[in-house]
Amino acid sequence: MTMNRRSFMKLMGAATGVSLAGVPYISSAAEMMSKTGRRVVVVGAGFGGSIVAKYIRMTDPTIEVVLIDRDKKFIACPFSNLVIGGFRTLEENTITHDKLATNYGVKLVYDEVTAIDTAAKKVVVTGGTIAYDRLVLSPGIDFRFDEIEGYDPVKTPEIMPHAWKAGPQTLLLKKQLESMKDGGTVVLTVPPTPFRCPPGPYERINMIAFYLKNHKPKSKIVAWDANEDIVSKPKLFRKGWAKHYEGMIEYHNGHKLAKVDTTAMTVDNGVETLHGDVINVIPPQKAGAIAHKAGVVGEDKKWCPVNQISFESTLVKDVHVIGDACSAAPMPKSGYAANSQAKVCALNVVQLMNGKDLIPPSHVNVCYSYITDKEAVTVSAVYKEAGGKTIAVPNSGGVSPDLSELEAIYGKSWIKNILAEMSS
Ligand SMILES: Cc1cc2nc3c(=O)[nH]c(=O)nc-3n(C[C@H](O)[C@H](O)[C@H](O)COP(=O)(O)OP(=O)(O)OC[C@H]3O[C@@H](n4cnc5c(N)ncnc54)[C@H](O)[C@@H]3O)c2cc1C
Repeated sequence: MTMNRRSFMKLMGAATGVSLAGVPYISSAAEMMSKTGRRVVVVGAGFGGSIVAKYIRMTDPTIEVVLIDRDKKFIACPFSNLVIGGFRTLEENTITHDKLATNYGVKLVYDEVTAIDTAAKKVVVTGGTIAYDRLVLSPGIDFRFDEIEGYDPVKTPEIMPHAWKAGPQTLLLKKQLESMKDGGTVVLTVPPTPFRCPPGPYERINMIAFYLKNHKPKSKIVAWDANEDIVSKPKLFRKGWAKHYEGMIEYHNGHKLAKVDTTAMTVDNGVETLHGDVINVIPPQKAGAIAHKAGVVGEDKKWCPVNQISFESTLVKDVHVIGDACSAAPMPKSGYAANSQAKVCALNVVQLMNGKDLIPPSHVNVCYSYITDKEAVTVSAVYKEAGGKTIAVPNSGGVSPDLSELEAIYGKSWIKNILAEMSS
């Protein structure tokens, strides 16, 4: 069952006998309770949300699941760097969720979640209010723009794109590279960890270098990394840079961005000012804004602490948080990890709603990073819970032994499969 705003409003109206057209409407929880009184509302239909919704319905079809996202089309970040490299389209990264409705009976609502009342157990969308028995949040990330002097949250990304949420930002960065003169300088800044996709910025460097090598070979890319070193697969990335992009990449560790100037087209770290013809600022990150509004963000004011077995918030009862927004280190903030957490969370939501014991998790993660269009490298691990913490199972993973054409083929298979799982 797919609901657009109009049919959603109709549904609200039918439930109450009140006409809702154009009226901001808050229903009572009782009016909005499902017939079974067993409703899970999921916020965010990305890597975590689509899977948790589907797997709750697969595990226990007596539970009603309402999946809410602001967008009808989901554009995946994984492999969006390849769009910048010039050998993948954004369309290939785009899915819809209709089949989750037809195949599994997930109720789809396309609307902005503007507030969450965890005391009354209600989610507020622009079209009304939806009550829940349990809530799962998978809203992804938002940015800590305020930590960069001179950064205007609206104007700056239009001049210095982050491209850290795939879509128009990805295409803007690609267009800027295409418009740049040969011999130009691209500047890229890497935020402090933790951030969405630990290897992502370094894959981004590769893909920009790949584009430059093929189209603007006199150009270079200068990377300022706030961290002490490349945060994932450092040896493999360095090997790739030496093999394919000799003299094109200047990498500086311990260079934390402090200030931007969109008129002068410069970045500043408090010691040095650097000019770029194209500037890709990847800002520091935090859990998606709605998690902050729901009161599930921890003392760090960034991420959401959760029980590492059920992914239930340690701060607010009956609210679970998965994906990038939650704290589950050493699991990375990746789409693969969000998928794995979603399955564990779905299973344990069903257990809890049926009065049964929690089932301990076994998670898996693999991150593919492209060096060129033909070679990739990977990092993988298996995770479990031990003493209330998530740990990597010793000797369970590692990095690929070398730059590998085979890993690049496996990577394409992975993205195809995970997007298919989210959308069918
Ligand atoms: C360049 C790049 C490359 C990457 N490469 C990889 C990779 O190769 N492999 C990998 O595993 N991961 C990769 N990632 C990381 C991956 O994209 C994220 O870890 C993943 O998307 C997290 O899933 P999520 O469910 O937490 O959030 P998302 O997938 O971002 O989903 C969040 C959803 O919530 C919705 N939403 C948020 N707030 C609201 C609201 N208030 N109302 C309505 N809807 C809302 C959003 O519209 C969105 O659809 C990459 C990321 C980037 C930026």
